[in-house]
Amino acid sequence: MIDIELTDVQVLSPFDFRWPEGMESFEGGWSFQARVGGKRHRGRHGIGARPVYGRVRVHAVTWLDGEVQVEGVEADDYPVSQALISRLRRPGRANARMWEDVQSGYEGFDVVDHLREIEAPYSPRCLAVKIREDDIPAWALHAWLRSQLPRKASGAARSAVAPSGVSRAALPPAPSLDARAVARALLAHARSLAGQMKTEGLKFTPDPAANALIQDDPFAFLLAVIADMGIRAERAWALPYLLRQRLSGFSPGVLVSDPDAVYAAVQQEPKLHRFVNTVPAWLVQAAQIVLDEYEGDAANLWAGEPTAFQLRRRMEAFPGIGQKKAAMAVEILSRDLGIPIRELDGSDVAYDVHLRRVFLRTGLADHDDLDHMVAVGRALNPGRPGALDLPAWDIGRRWCRPADPDCPSCPLNAVCPRLIARGAAVKGV
Ligand code: SF4
Repeated sequence: MIDIELTDVQVLSPFDFRWPEGMESFEGGWSFQARVGGKRHRGRHGIGARPVYGRVRVHAVTWLDGEVQVEGVEADDYPVSQALISRLRRPGRANARMWEDVQSGYEGFDVVDHLREIEAPYSPRCLAVKIREDDIPAWALHAWLRSQLPRKASGAARSAVAPSGVSRAALPPAPSLDARAVARALLAHARSLAGQMKTEGLKFTPDPAANALIQDDPFAFLLAVIADMGIRAERAWALPYLLRQRLSGFSPGVLVSDPDAVYAAVQQEPKLHRFVNTVPAWLVQAAQIVLDEYEGDAANLWAGEPTAFQLRRRMEAFPGIGQKKAAMAVEILSRDLGIPIRELDGSDVAYDVHLRRVFLRTGLADHDDLDHMVAVGRALNPGRPGALDLPAWDIGRRWCRPADPDCPSCPLNAVCPRLIARGAAVKGV
């Protein structure tokens, strides 16, 4: 992570800025001095609003040394996140569409899919950063990184992280790509995980009591799915159990009747989640949906043997659940919890960082894009695409790490072409 030191941060009064196409008014913002890259810069971050992507949205601009560097636009979840979305660029300043395009220095940022954060007309499918509107150090660093980006492309884009730590000498030459062989090896790893689960039981977390709650209480399962973002899976799946301990009861009605208690329970030290405002808001909203649409019983979400597609759509109607979590939930319910679900050919792989890295490095996917990876899963295992999800996730987490993949020990090493550089920038918990 690049060090940035901010000094002399001042709140700004409303001001206007003249673009070539006209004047824009800003309601306020901050001025600051930033020391980064061995130099000191004058900066300004202005907050206003203007029509963009189908409606009036919060709009921010960050200047460095008097020059506009980056802009941010209100995300769809702005009411709970107060976050803005700002496109990432590659050399030449075109939109960054693949992880390999992402510039060094963005390792600590929340890198997102622009179209998933702003689902609106003209919202591009490209990568972006999601930053709270008042996170001045992050806006200053984002602006400085943009100022370092060449305006003209000069050959290959810079890779975010140089791959390292692969002991190539310990391995035979990498095989050429055989997608079917990789898929077979993934499914074999899935069978080995299933055998392990039979002997050791389900292990969402290291705590047997937290695991039992997930298995026995559908509402706890739903809350864990919502919480599974930005923190390690084990911590997310323990959240319902720890939340129950901190509340006076644990049901949709209890959460809806006292949202402040839910916020306080999540924010109490040790905090139950990294996103201490967004996640409690989503938990309360989810409880309200369960009350309004599922007669207060989350089990009704999957009652009546829905198809995989129907269940995915129902899950996606909850706040905080997108393609990744909905696809994951369908697989866990069917595979691990034995919930009857029809037409599993409508299941999908979850677009998760670990799966993405493995799909890229094994050559199953040639670029990092949700639709592409889902299509790859459907083509390789049409009877149940979601069956490829857990083995790829597990391999990505345990062996195919971003910077130091352990190819010699990896269950895919005999079939993987080891395209290491492809996945190095796909990071996350
Ligand atoms: S760890 Fe190595 S062998 Fe395993 S999937 Fe990643 S690149 Fe392929």
